[in-house]
Amino acid sequence: MNSAEYFEKSKKLSPGGVQSPVRSFKSVGGTPVYFKSAKGPFLYDVEGKEYVDFCMSFGPMILGHRDPDVEAVVNETVKTAWSFGTAEPYSLELAEFMVTEIPWVEKVRFVSSGTEAVMSALRLARAFTGRDKVLKFDGCYHGHVDSLLVKAGSGLAGTSSSDSAGIGEVQASQTLVLPLDDENAVKEVFAAHGKDIACLIVEPLPANYGLLPQRKEYIEKIADMARANGSLVIFDEVISGFRVGMQGMAAKFDKKPDLVTYGKIIGGGFPVGAYGGRKDLMEMIAPEGPVYQAGTLSGNPFGMRAGLATLQKLKRDNVHARLEKNTARFAEEMKGILNGSGRWSAVYQESLFWFHGETAEPVRRVDKIPAGHAEAYAKLFHALLNEGVYLAPSGYEVGFFSNAHDEKTIERVLEAASRAVKAVAKQ
Ligand SMILES: *Cc1c(COP(=O)(O)O)cnc(C)c1O
Repeated sequence: MNSAEYFEKSKKLSPGGVQSPVRSFKSVGGTPVYFKSAKGPFLYDVEGKEYVDFCMSFGPMILGHRDPDVEAVVNETVKTAWSFGTAEPYSLELAEFMVTEIPWVEKVRFVSSGTEAVMSALRLARAFTGRDKVLKFDGCYHGHVDSLLVKAGSGLAGTSSSDSAGIGEVQASQTLVLPLDDENAVKEVFAAHGKDIACLIVEPLPANYGLLPQRKEYIEKIADMARANGSLVIFDEVISGFRVGMQGMAAKFDKKPDLVTYGKIIGGGFPVGAYGGRKDLMEMIAPEGPVYQAGTLSGNPFGMRAGLATLQKLKRDNVHARLEKNTARFAEEMKGILNGSGRWSAVYQESLFWFHGETAEPVRRVDKIPAGHAEAYAKLFHALLNEGVYLAPSGYEVGFFSNAHDEKTIERVLEAASRAVKAVAKQ
């Protein structure tokens, strides 16, 4: 069967034919490509065609697909145990690595996804503060936690309405939503609701609505305002954790969160999430404290061991420095090529990149993304796909560079992009 045939069949079996919405190509049009294997920077579709992958499972595969060092550990795990549901040493080793590497993570608890990590951190923040409300920012994604699937409401600053069917008004109303990059809005919301806000949660490097790098002073100020009002500060580093150096954005901004959430990279491609932070907070989690949180597959040995092998290699080989350099060069050269079809801006930080229509000022919030972005991206996406380059199938997802994207691969992509841009210009 080819991809189109698989998709026809899948649509009858799963909603939209997929197991997560963006995969369906709904926002770029066309039929999703079905991939059956992956190695290094490459994906192989069901018909055997090779693609250079910049989606990289939306972040976890920072070393590339099936990195040899990680693969060795996975093969060993196959022969050791697949799941215990008991105390075991593998989660201890990953916890020790993380706690040693990141001083503000004094204790950590592993779960099975980023969503679960965020959900648990919110529960903990509410338990600790005895408050119900949560402050989040438009353009930050924190998984599909009910109370965070909300968007800014049309009424007063900070009000919200649900962003998905099935989320009750009561739940949505507990969440206050503000635009990014606006300290005054945060000040006003704390003035009005300060005593009710359990926590402020932010992606310190928002990378789920395009890449929207924030000003250091902004992050500092909003964290300080939260603390001054007795609210906890949660950094959602599910994407940025172990991608932005070993200590994430908290170190870049020199601002410590009270709690921090992880996922993606720390599982090395297996389903893992984690939340951690101040000891006095983490000691409130069951069985040590009264905040319940559990999981059948929590601390699964594949995720724990593949995650640890990934983090160890990132550190040992100083992978981040190399990725940062290569991503910058790639993004700048791509921008030059893309300008053969319209005017583009390249946004990149560490090993993340994003292209959007040219703007005079850096885009730091959702409402500053140029009009027509999704349409322009869709054209580019399909032209590149045709040339064997797989970007995430949505203009609001970022590109992920990996350690397996070597010189030769970059050259190949730049040549493919030149042809793709000519094809777009002819349309
Ligand atoms: C991916 C992501 C999540 C959700 O993680 P899942 O593993 O998909 O549940 C939460 N927050 C951020 C910042 C993410 O990038």
